[in-house]
Amino acid sequence: MAEPRVSIVIPVYNEEENLPELLRRMHTVMEGLGKPYETILVNDGSRDRSLEILKEASSRDPALRIIDFNRNYGQHAAVFAGFEAARGEIIVTLDADLQNPPEEVPKLVAKMEEGYDVVGSVRQQRKDSVFRKAASKIINRVTSSVTGVQLHDYGCMLRAYRKDVVKTLCASQEISTFIPVLADLFAGKITEIPVAHAERARGESKYSFLKLIRLQFDLITSFSLLPLRATMFIGVTTALLAMLAAAVLIAGRLLMGSDWAVSGIFTLFAGLFFFVGVLLFSIGLLGEYTGRIYMEVRRRPRFVIRHVIQNGEERHP
Ligand code: UDP
Ligand code: MG
Repeated sequence: MAEPRVSIVIPVYNEEENLPELLRRMHTVMEGLGKPYETILVNDGSRDRSLEILKEASSRDPALRIIDFNRNYGQHAAVFAGFEAARGEIIVTLDADLQNPPEEVPKLVAKMEEGYDVVGSVRQQRKDSVFRKAASKIINRVTSSVTGVQLHDYGCMLRAYRKDVVKTLCASQEISTFIPVLADLFAGKITEIPVAHAERARGESKYSFLKLIRLQFDLITSFSLLPLRATMFIGVTTALLAMLAAAVLIAGRLLMGSDWAVSGIFTLFAGLFFFVGVLLFSIGLLGEYTGRIYMEVRRRPRFVIRHVIQNGEERHP
């Protein structure tokens, strides 16, 4: 088979209801593109029939390659596995839930052929819940100010990358990574194009409120030391305020006698508790970074691949 020009990478986690339509539409679009291509689907430990559907589809379509994880490692680990397996010059990622219409892929590819390293996409009329959109808005804002990479929509996984960028991504074996941001750090020429966004066809979003908070925290701590510096700033300011409060208390004690100072104890308590809070917060934050270093030095594999399936046949990786 000819070397593919375009590789499509799709993470799949419990998407049995969306897969048949996704595979059908993807096939039509890619055949229409007129370039050699491959589609890599990474089964991220689905507990439904996703794997069977994928396996069955691969026996009919030689352009499909299925990577099967031994358990759930998360969307980004799945995309990384797809990246490592991708052979195309242009690598496109998208979600399996049909929120990113496969029909938009040729637009991205065309833009890439103009010589960009990364082509992102901005979702026009995003079809998500109000809560989900608000969360994304905050994440986008904080992310661009913390990382200094100015893009409009980090959450949209419908993106295209050049092979070199993907290679660099794979080489930086970080544990917790947010692919769009990381890619933009390494890419020379970046652009964004508007794409359509659809309602999640079937099934539920795999991101809960807690998972989103976790993601934001990951983003900030894995891309900058700003929280450490902010904590130091808060610490210094608190200390200065505490000194000021002490001066006021001493002055009051000297000028107005000990009666006044007794009621001052409560102020002192309040200050003390605040201080303890800040201290605990700092320790926690330091722990986060230390934990991160610990995770990095262990160099654990980020995922374990059970099988690779092509033409309906299982191979060991
Ligand atoms: N996904 C995955 N592993 C996970 C969670 C999600 O591979 O642990 C996949 C999921 O199948 C989908 C994509 O990542 O293809 C995006 O997930 P989802 O649609 O739930 O996220 P949202 O659209 O709410 O951001
Ligand atoms: Mg979705």
